[in-house]
Amino acid sequence: MSFTTRGFPMMLTFDLDCETMWTARDPEAHKRPILMSQGAYGWKRGVWRVMDVLRRYGVQSTFFIPGQVVEAHPEVVEALLKDGHEIAHHSHTHRWIVTLTPEEEREEMERGQQAIIAATGAAPRGWRSPAAEVTPVTMDLIKEYGFSYSSNFFDDDAPYLLSIRDETTDCVELPFRYINTDSPYFQFAKILPGRTITSPPQVLDTWSWEFDTLYAEDRMMVLACHPEFIGQPSGAILLAKFIEHVQGHSGVWIDRCDRISDDMRGLLKAAA
Ligand SMILES: [Zn+2]
Repeated sequence: MSFTTRGFPMMLTFDLDCETMWTARDPEAHKRPILMSQGAYGWKRGVWRVMDVLRRYGVQSTFFIPGQVVEAHPEVVEALLKDGHEIAHHSHTHRWIVTLTPEEEREEMERGQQAIIAATGAAPRGWRSPAAEVTPVTMDLIKEYGFSYSSNFFDDDAPYLLSIRDETTDCVELPFRYINTDSPYFQFAKILPGRTITSPPQVLDTWSWEFDTLYAEDRMMVLACHPEFIGQPSGAILLAKFIEHVQGHSGVWIDRCDRISDDMRGLLKAAA
């Protein structure tokens, strides 16, 4: 079955973690300025280069941004909104959910929510976990906050209605997989032993093969990147060439997660 009324769904998504990428791992990381500067690349340079590429190809995307980053960089949020991108919820401090108490989890949700409302004037429609973990508390919060979609799980190449405590909700899950993210290929730091940097053309091959298969099977694709990595010079060429590959196919709908999931919901409910 086709999952939208407008063609093959392709979502380019970006998690703008910036310094929280490191402070989430270690609260003392803010005392290490060179480490922190690897996160600062996201708001200083990477996100602007990503926006340039998206503008060139006429693509609107979803940016999942921690509340702390939203509050620290109003100029980035303003530029993203001006280009028609969507700002979605990505916690407040990016702390790893499995280390939090239920009270801390709620605080992460509420503070991130309020930061986005203050910056954009509207509640975020979607939520993505920091560091790919959830707890039963998280699932309850997704329902309580009324998110229209979630992009968290790794169990399919198709959207589905999220089930929370055995009850099917209206929240559309947009799953993805690590192979369609940028961090495994490009996140390198001395404190992350064993990491290597991959050649961007190799990643273009990987993502293109993923796309070609999903397109042939009439599934969907979510690409999840970080401006800290994909916004580097060679990453921007990779992103541009991947968009060219996707746009070279007929009947592809590249858009924000909120618009695509709204379209999917009706079809999913009808099929249920
Ligand atoms: Zn993140």
